[in-house]
Amino acid sequence: MTYKIAVLPGDGIGSEIMAEAVKVLYALRDDFGLKIECEHALVGGAGYDAFGTPLPEPTLKLVKQADAVLLGAVGGYKWESLDIALRPEKGLLGLRSGLGLFANLRPAILYPQLAAASSLKPEIVAGLNIMIVRELTGDIYFGQPRGIRTLENGERQGFNTMVYKESEIERIGRVAFDSAMKRGKRVCSVDKANVLECTELWREVMTRIARDYPAVTLSHMYVDNAAMQLVRAPKQFDVMVTGNMFGDILSDCAAMLTGSIGMLPSASLDAQGKGMYEPIHGSAPDIAGRNIANPLATILSVAMMLRYTLEAPDMADRVEAAVNRALDDGYRTGDIHTAGMKKVSTSAMGDAVVAALRAA
Ligand code: NAD
Repeated sequence: MTYKIAVLPGDGIGSEIMAEAVKVLYALRDDFGLKIECEHALVGGAGYDAFGTPLPEPTLKLVKQADAVLLGAVGGYKWESLDIALRPEKGLLGLRSGLGLFANLRPAILYPQLAAASSLKPEIVAGLNIMIVRELTGDIYFGQPRGIRTLENGERQGFNTMVYKESEIERIGRVAFDSAMKRGKRVCSVDKANVLECTELWREVMTRIARDYPAVTLSHMYVDNAAMQLVRAPKQFDVMVTGNMFGDILSDCAAMLTGSIGMLPSASLDAQGKGMYEPIHGSAPDIAGRNIANPLATILSVAMMLRYTLEAPDMADRVEAAVNRALDDGYRTGDIHTAGMKKVSTSAMGDAVVAALRAA
């Protein structure tokens, strides 16, 4: 079977980092027999410029037909004054909802070669490898009712509703347990069950489905403690699973433990395992067009795509090993550069990874 991959570079550094990720994909196709075909489409500001909308119809059609989506990043100064419905970021939200992507997987891995780049002491973060599984389509971000109302005394009151159905908790829980089965077999479910009924139900459902995974150890942690533990002793975690809002905050916190936003990939999956893969960073308009952005987060997103959707874990291992080798050989883009290392451009970093892939 040949997998169809929708390639959406997006805006800013998107096209530069995506060119390197595609280089890696084509090397896997040409030299290692990966059966893929790539088709490019516009999204974000680029979509707006060409079609007047951040998620043009041909792009939506392509992503629905494709087996997987590889996204660069969207956004930029040029589109900041547009009506909110036309802004590039709306394209991203439209992709998530249009594809039913409810599970966000964000690994926070600290490459030993980059330990000095973390804001925490090397001994606290060396060897860090956490998988944060965040629910993406429910919770207080989507719950109704919501709004700002005026009370009888004339004072205004803002309100949102935290909601989760059992089925929504169960499906994200299963993603976390399945992920743990492929890793360290530990799941920490993060909630605030001491004060929020919604997350009391969350805890109950997680405990129930854990019975289907006897090989996995489940623990529970309140979100305030989880935030503290992430910076105190982050290596205690294997897989963390949590709702949309807590996950939003904790995953950014975990990302920064690793020191560089340019290194971190992510996956957003639907119920069938089809996914959208993207670096966690944005379009970095401040450095766009200069061939200096770090392409490794996007290349590592390719590795996640190989592992989670294309069912090619051996190829995923190859890509991750090639990234490691390029770092071992001292190649660094500006964001991760330290004294004594070879400072390289975006394209030279892509070349270094492809060379390492072919040399292995
Ligand atoms: P950003 O992630 O684009 O940039 C933050 C900082 O990190 C900048 O200094 C940037 O130069 C640097 N950086 C980011 N990626 C890098 C890389 N690969 N290599 C080297 N340095 C890198 O966040 P921002 O500046 O807050 O947002 C810029 C635009 O991106 C905004 O329009 C925002 O809405 C959008 N955005 C998009 C996404 C997405 O597409 N998923 C995510 C976040 C932000």
